[in-house]
Amino acid sequence: MASGAGGPEAISYRTARERVLSAVSALPAETIPLLEARGRALRRAYAASHALPPFRNSSMDGYAVVTQDLAGAGPNTPVELEVVEVLPAGKVASGAVTRGHAMRIMTGAMVPDGANAVVPIEDCERVTGPRGGERARFHRPARHDENIRPAGRDLREGDVPLAEGRELSPHDLALLAALGESRVGVGPRPRCAILSTGDELLEIDQALRPGAIRDSNRPMLALLIEECGGRIVASERIRDDAAAFTARAKALLDQADVLLSIGGVSEGDFDPVKLGLGALGDVALWRVAMKPGRPQAFGTPLGRCFFGLPGNPASVACVFEVLVRPALRKMQGFSALDRPRLTVRVAETIASRAGRTDFVRVALEPRGEALWAHASGEQISGHLVPQSRAHALLIVPEETASLATGDSAEALLLRWPETASV
Ligand code: AMP
Ligand code: MG
Repeated sequence: MASGAGGPEAISYRTARERVLSAVSALPAETIPLLEARGRALRRAYAASHALPPFRNSSMDGYAVVTQDLAGAGPNTPVELEVVEVLPAGKVASGAVTRGHAMRIMTGAMVPDGANAVVPIEDCERVTGPRGGERARFHRPARHDENIRPAGRDLREGDVPLAEGRELSPHDLALLAALGESRVGVGPRPRCAILSTGDELLEIDQALRPGAIRDSNRPMLALLIEECGGRIVASERIRDDAAAFTARAKALLDQADVLLSIGGVSEGDFDPVKLGLGALGDVALWRVAMKPGRPQAFGTPLGRCFFGLPGNPASVACVFEVLVRPALRKMQGFSALDRPRLTVRVAETIASRAGRTDFVRVALEPRGEALWAHASGEQISGHLVPQSRAHALLIVPEETASLATGDSAEALLLRWPETASV
């Protein structure tokens, strides 16, 4: 995958994506405790080993009855039944409910044999019988199966409730917990290493000096990686020195599944990634027809995955969303690789160029039935504020030269606008 003597290869976004996704595959699954599996990719289809609910149970506190006994009950013709047993949740009745009898039953308790309805406590009266026993008085008939949750109504034995590749939510894990799965087979978290490049870069807590800026890409990238399931095993910064790049990149590729460098990949005289990647092998320099994020490097040196990201903050953020995120998600075994896609309406003219895919940072405003998208600031790839204000990346596809007010377009949702109600 050499870049060739002719310099960087010019490719479309679609080609870049295809190459990246065909170069990565799902890492071997691991089995972990259920409580640690939130957000992970489910890698095993779990067939229900039993039904849910596992037994017929009451959905109300009330009386388990035989409906035929109450057929004649009315406001002026009450029916009284002898209460022969009390059933808290978890208790199994000693016998069946027979004609003329009822059992007081709590929510979740197993409905005893013979009973075919539960009349809620608030719909009847509790009275004391002539010999001091508990009786219940009913003023209406009971409907067959009233307030009874049948076994298997939620899930039948053998059903597979969760598809492989699903991102596990707390609710999914509750379902697996109900089925007795204390450990879950999931995709592992890819080990990621970050390498910032630039003589001008300072740490967050360093004072500014002329010509210097703080390294803001490295924390952004680390947090984005963690948000989509990766694990940061190293995060370093080097000066613009090709030999230093090669040495650190080799060392980091040894401990990580994915190495991501930042900056130093374009046409500058001192760009260390461009100058040093030849020594890694299997890395190509790309000029991807996308904006932002044109200069990039990608490859599989030493059998690992390497992304040479551009340096400008918007470019890093964009390339992460549209190339790195899908790769990291594929490695984990997710079936959905991208951020949620929305159809939005364009609130202002958006200029692009045919032959290039633009990712426009937009704010979304719910108006009427639609979400309207307007630029969240000047689309300058060195700027941080428009990225922070953006709710979505609006996609202007390769074949589209510009979008006009009112046009529909696809967008990748980064976060939901705070003002929108759901
Ligand atoms: P480069 O591709 O290295 O020339 O970087 C392009 C632009 O991004 C330059 O203005 C750099 O100063 C800036 N830049 C590079 N790396 C970072 C970083 N880690 N954090 C913030 N800005 C950066
Ligand atoms: Mg640089």
